[in-house]
Amino acid sequence: MKRGTKAEAHRLRALPSVASLLARDAVRQMMQAHPRDIVVSALRRILDGIRAGEGAGAAPVSREAWAERIVTRLPAAIAAGEALPIRRVINAAGVVVHTNLGRAPLPEEALAAVSDTAGGYSNLELDLASGERSSRLSHVEGMLRDLTGAECAHVVNNNAAAVLLCLAGIARGREVIVSRGELVEIGGSFRVPDVMAESGARLVEVGTTNRTRLSDYERAITGQTALLLKVHRSNFVQRGFTEEVSAGDLARLGARAGIPVMEDQGSGALLDLTRDGIPGAFSLRQVLAAGPGVVTASGDKLLGGPQAGIIVGKEELVGPLRKHPLSRALRVDKLCIAAMAAVLRLYADERRARGRVPVLRMLLEPETAVRARAARLVRRVRRAGDTRLVLSVVRGETSPGGGALPDVFIPTACVAVTRPGIDEGRLEERLRRGDPPVVARLAGGRLLLDLRTVRDDEVPALAAALLAAEKNG
Ligand SMILES: *Cc1c(COP(=O)(O)O)cnc(C)c1O
Repeated sequence: MKRGTKAEAHRLRALPSVASLLARDAVRQMMQAHPRDIVVSALRRILDGIRAGEGAGAAPVSREAWAERIVTRLPAAIAAGEALPIRRVINAAGVVVHTNLGRAPLPEEALAAVSDTAGGYSNLELDLASGERSSRLSHVEGMLRDLTGAECAHVVNNNAAAVLLCLAGIARGREVIVSRGELVEIGGSFRVPDVMAESGARLVEVGTTNRTRLSDYERAITGQTALLLKVHRSNFVQRGFTEEVSAGDLARLGARAGIPVMEDQGSGALLDLTRDGIPGAFSLRQVLAAGPGVVTASGDKLLGGPQAGIIVGKEELVGPLRKHPLSRALRVDKLCIAAMAAVLRLYADERRARGRVPVLRMLLEPETAVRARAARLVRRVRRAGDTRLVLSVVRGETSPGGGALPDVFIPTACVAVTRPGIDEGRLEERLRRGDPPVVARLAGGRLLLDLRTVRDDEVPALAAALLAAEKNG
């Protein structure tokens, strides 16, 4: 607002008070359906908005006209006030495992399992056959062993926690050898050297940024060496004059020297997706088969389950971690156990997993099917008639995301959107701030909506959001 202008002060002087608004019939009716506090704070927010300059410069209106305007806005203000701060959004950004958007959408089966067990009591830590106390992990560890071929499995809060626990449990006070090419940062708060320091293990760096050989590890081994660690680079690739030691070679060196080998695999893929044209997406079973004694991974990246850190490997290494005091601090809750059990159950049948786990479905859906969904969105918007949105279906690339496969891009179909009179940045913002919020991508002066990460049943809402974004300035 242009503060201090006389016209503005005059305009605001006619604003009705909260008390007088509460006495109006229309507002009293709203209070039958909503708690008084909610209605009062919605009124305050509307009045604050007007005082802060909404509609400043407009002609003065009477007290009665103000009151009518405010009452018209009340239902929307109440709805906004009652909405939860975290809500569903439509991911049209073209990143499947999008960390800012909650990573993996869960399969229906996992939602049902959570809803079935979490609203009441469950046998979380009770063996129903014997009546004895049991471990919450008993619901998932057997399936994890079967799916990965591991002797022993453990689950903690996330992969960062899994790495911390392994380092603290296996190497506290001793040395861990890591290639300089793998001292990575995976999202602001996970840096391998920092996690190492927190665990109490001492980092021994070997090799150079671009080249590390087996002999580098070999020479660094001392009586203090507790672990050889390999870290999946996850969110970047190295090209050119590079060399790294394979997990197999490292495992053989570890076996010769009597030192355990650990691999932080990151993505948690349970199926070999390399055969589906997703290079580098090896399964946990394949990674374990190469020989490391312990492998850690995320539950909510390519696995497509709830947030979790999965530790699989040899009994002698993983077994003691389950009893480590840190395990109690890093343990998963019942929602996670219920969701993970349901997701792992789907993987018992590979075909079912491919069809039912949303992350896999999105990664593997044929481009033609995505294109059909894009065309459906375009038709739906055009059918509205009253629009100046210009839409076209274009080819694009979806990223698997989650830092899992930085150089992999999956061909996809996008809807490119322009609107004469509204620049694409404004359109992107309006979509993001709409209801439901839509997260789109700006590229080359165009607004792109990637339909690979949009579900069929979200298309009508997405069409409506586009039409609303065009109108609501
Ligand atoms: C993602 C990732 C992590 C961190 O996993 P969170 O489940 O996010 O804690 C650690 N290491 C690697 C290699 C990763 O890819």
